Amino acid sequence: MELIPLGTSSASIVRDRGLTAYVLRNQGKVFLFDCGEGTQFRLLKAGVRRSRIRAVFITHLHADHYFGLFGLLISMSLERRKSPLMIIAPRELSDILQSFSGLRPADLPFKIEHIPLEEGLEFQEVYMADGIQVSARPLVHGRFCMGYRVERADQVHRIDGALAASLGITAKEQFQRLAAGQSVRTSGGQVVAPDQVRKKSGAVFAYVTDTSPCPGGLELARNADLLVHEATFGQERADRARETGHSTASDAALTARNAGAGRLLLTHFSARYKDLSVLEKEAKAIFLNTEIAEEYQAYPITSRKDMPQTDPAA
Ligand SMILES: [Zn+2]
Ligand SMILES: [Zn+2]
Repeated sequence: MELIPLGTSSASIVRDRGLTAYVLRNQGKVFLFDCGEGTQFRLLKAGVRRSRIRAVFITHLHADHYFGLFGLLISMSLERRKSPLMIIAPRELSDILQSFSGLRPADLPFKIEHIPLEEGLEFQEVYMADGIQVSARPLVHGRFCMGYRVERADQVHRIDGALAASLGITAKEQFQRLAAGQSVRTSGGQVVAPDQVRKKSGAVFAYVTDTSPCPGGLELARNADLLVHEATFGQERADRARETGHSTASDAALTARNAGAGRLLLTHFSARYKDLSVLEKEAKAIFLNTEIAEEYQAYPITSRKDMPQTDPAA
């Protein structure tokens, strides 16, 4: 798997950064995470063919995360796409697409399969095809917003028995529930989530934006090899981050550290930051393996052999 950031700006546009969009490529298949305005041009520039896109995952319906979808769908229509396109997004998106002439189901030469995300959901497996499994969890952002976690499909339900036992999981029924994706409570009263005890040998990618620090973000990032996390502000604007449902670079780094992630890419930068090295420096003081997400750069997502459950510095 590899990840190519196409846009790393938050809602206010700036000359040198695009609005949010990420390409995930796995065995020749392309998956798009968010689709800000201008994404189709950025796909062209990155040399990624839109005909290869199998699914689009939208985090939430703020304009900077999905306005690029309309143009992209029209271009797919003009080139007479035949294969269905999966769109995973809040339910409201169907109504929005319906209201656009040219984007209604009868207008398109291909089928849109919308997997609607409902407000209030705790965890949902949203995609299981093409060798990957994608799950979603809610974030905290003022309006309904989901983060995503991608892993190899053949790895997702394997539980690390020794690790589970060390956390107090003993009964067969508890193992079965964990394997089915459900949390269980130990006899000591501790809640153990499936992501905490997954046997991990495939690469994991987590996508966490836009959000204040929250349990959903932490679970998505658990032991991820590559975590993309928003860092709209620096810590000097922590109040502003809280007011607007965003994270600081320090927040992102703490999530990466507490989740035992391997590598952190910061993104979704406020227009106020011309020099992003201040955000990188702030995060690195907490989580060393941090970088600023560079647009058009391909980041390989590879599995770490010995996965620590938490960072030794934590
Ligand atoms: Zn945003
Ligand atoms: Zn937003």
